[in-house]
Amino acid sequence: MVKITTRFLCGVLFTGGALSAQADLVVLQYHHVSNATPPATSTSISLFDGQLEMIEDLQLEVVPLQPGTEAALNGELTDRKQVAITFDDAYESVYTKAAPRLAHRDYPYTIFVNTNAVGGAGYMTWAQLRELGQKAGVTIANHSHDHGHLAKRPDESQSQWEQRVETSLDRAQSVLEETLGTDAPLFAYPYGEFDVGLEAKLAERGWFGFGQQSGAVGENSGPTRLPRFPMANAYGQLSTLKDKLLSKALPVDASTLPAGVITNNPPTLEFTLPEYLSVNRLACFASGQGRIDIDNMDGGTVRVTAPDAFNSRRFRYNCTHPADDGSYYWLSQQWLDLSKPED
Ligand SMILES: [Zn+2]
Repeated sequence: MVKITTRFLCGVLFTGGALSAQADLVVLQYHHVSNATPPATSTSISLFDGQLEMIEDLQLEVVPLQPGTEAALNGELTDRKQVAITFDDAYESVYTKAAPRLAHRDYPYTIFVNTNAVGGAGYMTWAQLRELGQKAGVTIANHSHDHGHLAKRPDESQSQWEQRVETSLDRAQSVLEETLGTDAPLFAYPYGEFDVGLEAKLAERGWFGFGQQSGAVGENSGPTRLPRFPMANAYGQLSTLKDKLLSKALPVDASTLPAGVITNNPPTLEFTLPEYLSVNRLACFASGQGRIDIDNMDGGTVRVTAPDAFNSRRFRYNCTHPADDGSYYWLSQQWLDLSKPED
């Protein structure tokens, strides 16, 4: 209650100035850190070194994922700009290439593990995970057991889906607990895919859920649909990294946004900007379609629809708005077309 009042007064009395002090958590998402793995999911070693150097140059605080997320959701970061580093799938290059570089800088990080794959070709072994997990600042967390597409399939009954998903979520968590003694309440959605039912399964368990849509984590973010910036070669280039590292969450209540399973193609995104932001300064982009038009409704509400239908299973609308300190407010809406084949 006190927090809301203070925020309201700041907005009214010191328009702009007080708001620019807001800082949010930026979470980076990696798969491979290697020059020898598929480019679409790999960050080259030189790019990874460059990214870590930029984090240091900008004097950002690299924090463990769970406390960083909690502080951001609670609005406790004020002007402290924080970054968390995450890896999905526990590939062996995380052990051989990324871990030594992060240890050298004393940066904490989280590895999201799909437990059934551990020890397979190209993946870390349990011994390697145990070794890293025992280091200060390293968290091993849940990326499901089977790395399945976990949103409810159109041809699946509710009970079939529940059994499939609960088995995958809970088996991974108990394997991690039995094998490594860890029980972090952190989950990364395989493929970044989720629906409302899956979010509810995470909420029941008290877990935070991380997707693959971009953006910063702020006070208005949804705990079961938290954004991360993909850092593979195509997305993690240094030319655009600074804007991402310094980005803030667009202050839109996440509970007013759709989970993203589409019923119309192209889908429509509608949200309301707070009074201190202007619709005229908002820019929105759609995957593969570039900048798209914004319909300005009454009261700061905007409606965004891409001109053309999408042919992929997953795609995004990204919207940005300049902040008065030179950074950007950022919102990414992930869309999921369940009629398209699983990859
Ligand atoms: Zn994965």
